[in-house]
Order: sequence, then C-alpha cells, then structure tokens
Amino acid sequence: MSEIKQRFALHYDWAKHRRVIAGREVILHCHHYNSRIQHTVESAAGIDGKQIIRGCAEAVFAEHVANAFLTWDDVETKWKVAAGLYAHLGFGDLDMRKVGEGRVEAPASHFVEGWNAGFAGRTDPVCTMTEGYLAGAHLAVTGETVSYRETACTMGGAERCVFEAVRGVRDPIGRVERNAVAFTPKAASAFPKPRNIDGEKIVSALVDMPIHGNNEGLIPAFGVYLANTPADFYNLVCIRFVEEMTAKGLGRNAQRLLVSDAETCAMNTFRGIMSSPEWDGLVGPMIKDTPDKLYGIVAVSNALGWGNWYVTSHDQQEALRIESVTGYEALGFRELRGAATDPQCFMLRGVAAGIMALVYGTGTVADRFGSYASKEADCICSGKASCSFEVLRS
Ligand SMILES: [Zn+2]
Ligand SMILES: [Zn+2]
Repeated sequence: MSEIKQRFALHYDWAKHRRVIAGREVILHCHHYNSRIQHTVESAAGIDGKQIIRGCAEAVFAEHVANAFLTWDDVETKWKVAAGLYAHLGFGDLDMRKVGEGRVEAPASHFVEGWNAGFAGRTDPVCTMTEGYLAGAHLAVTGETVSYRETACTMGGAERCVFEAVRGVRDPIGRVERNAVAFTPKAASAFPKPRNIDGEKIVSALVDMPIHGNNEGLIPAFGVYLANTPADFYNLVCIRFVEEMTAKGLGRNAQRLLVSDAETCAMNTFRGIMSSPEWDGLVGPMIKDTPDKLYGIVAVSNALGWGNWYVTSHDQQEALRIESVTGYEALGFRELRGAATDPQCFMLRGVAAGIMALVYGTGTVADRFGSYASKEADCICSGKASCSFEVLRS
C-alpha cells in the first residue's frame, strides 16, 4: 500500500457505528441515493440548488483534504493526496496533471453512474459535488480561493469530465461550524436480538471488506456503486435545502421530498444488495423466513455508517417499529444547528418505509412506492434518547 493510501485507512467507531476516514465521519450510500438527492436539490424551483451542493462540498472538503496532509508535504504531494482521497472515497478518478493551468479532467465519475441509472438522457453536466471538492482542495493545497466549473461532462457525451478553475471575486469558502454535543447512546443490550440474524457478524464482515475506490476511483459492490461521503456534507446539504425551501413557505414539501428519495433508494439499493453474491454468502445462510430478510437488511445498513438501529417490534407485513440510537442526521443536526422541536431524520424515515415495501410489497419499485407510511415519533434532535420510527401499511 502506498504511503498516501495509508492515510485513508478506515477507522470504524463501534460505539457510534460510524466509519471514519482521514479523521472525518463518512457515510456509505449508493449512486441511486446520491443522484436522487442531488436531483431533488438542484431541480427545486426558486432556489440555487447547484450552489447549495457546491458550497457545502467546498467547505467540507477544504477541511477533509487538509486533514489528510502531513506537515512536510510539498504542493505536488498535496495534490496527489487530494486526488487520492477523492478516488478512495469512491467519487472517481481525477487527472491532476494540468491543475497548475487550472484544468482537471475526470475519466470516471460516481455521479455520472448515478444519473445514468436514474435520470438517463440528461446532457447537462452532473458532477456538481466535484466542482466543490476541487475548490475545497485548491484552498487546502494552495491557500487560494477559486471556483471550479465543469465545462464538459461524460453525461453529455464528452470523453472525460473537464473542470476549469475560475478566478474572480467570490465569497470566501465557509467553515463548518460545529457545536460540541455530549451524547451517550442507548446500549445494544436494551433491544431484543433477532432470532436468526447475527447482526454483529454481518457488521464485522462488512467493516473488514475493502470498500474503497478501485483503479477508476469507483466502488462497484453489492450490485450498486457505493461512495463514502462525509456526514457533514449530507447534513449541510439537506439542512440548507430545507432552510431555503422553508424561507419560500415550502419547508414541509422539502422534507417530504427527502423522505421520498430515501424510500425509493432503499428499494433500489437493498434490492441490488439482496441479489448480490456478497448477500448470498454472508446473509443468505442465516435467512429462515421472510422477516429475516428485513432483519438482514437492517444489519447490513448498520455497517454503512448511518448509525445503528434496532427493530423493536415487527408484525410481518403490517407494521414495523425501529429505533435509531446514533443516526447521523440527528447528531449532525445537533452539531450544526442545535436542538430542534421537530424530528429531522428524513433519510432513515424514508428507508424504514422503503425496506418494508421491498420485503413485503409486490411489483416494480414504482408499484411499491407509498405502500407503507412512516413517521418519526421521537428524535434525538428534540432531546429524546433515540429516534423512533413507526411504519404502517398504507
Ligand atoms: Zn461529469
Ligand atoms: Zn431523529
């Protein structure tokens, strides 16, 4: 392993069920989820969704890239670290040879894979997060604040995505301001154990798997493309999206969209996972009946860095109650904004409905969508010990 790659070694925080790379918590989601969230934010009328994605990526990755530097790194090494981290996280391959001339090319892109799967036919550039990543990296490497814009994208038929530095007057790149949050999660022993599914064994096996970018900087696994994205990025994007929509009187709509995206993605992602050889080898042998599939999905999700959640009651196809003790949305909201009166875990709420629809529904993903309704009854954001979700057949 090269010296630079060693800097990205995974640290798994068992207390929070969180993945940490280069000192930052990262969350595994797949290309379906990432492109769908981006599509929701960028296509909302009346707000500048692209600027939300770009601005959040700039702030988050300026810190994350700098965190991977060593004090004696020269500028050339720092750019290698920036490209190496991007590829390791699974976003794709950055060719930095012309970065001194303000040009970066990308032969492979996680985002293009996602948009091709969910929104084929689009020709506008889709690698908005990469624009922000490059501006953040540029600040970390050189101390200079510039913008990057994608001037050609493989989504539109170009051979490579092309990003060009734009110099000119612009706002400074923001810092990620966090409140210290003192929080002790409920212990696993407070929850019933599934009969047949050994959750700890599944999480351990997944934590030991090398889930990082291949030589194209992509992570094809479980029938999807995964990426390790900083929790701060997801949280800042979703919080700012809801805030900007709330200012237009559309806050509830924004929340519903985020829940729907997660519901759809849970079905796509876990359908891919359940038909993969990794699932057959690891989870398949433990499954004795249909509810075991649901417990298996929950165990797999507990290795993705979302936090850990536990089924507290499950009445076959009728109802599910599930409790999350360290969800990244709730803890992130408290760090970034403080306490809230309303629940804030839109991703987990949508996923809870989606996995019920996947396990017990019939037909296509579109047929199953909406067949279960979920709500978050309690949330860590409003001072509760855990986030509780109730899912009922519609
Ligand atoms: Zn692109
Ligand atoms: Zn919550």
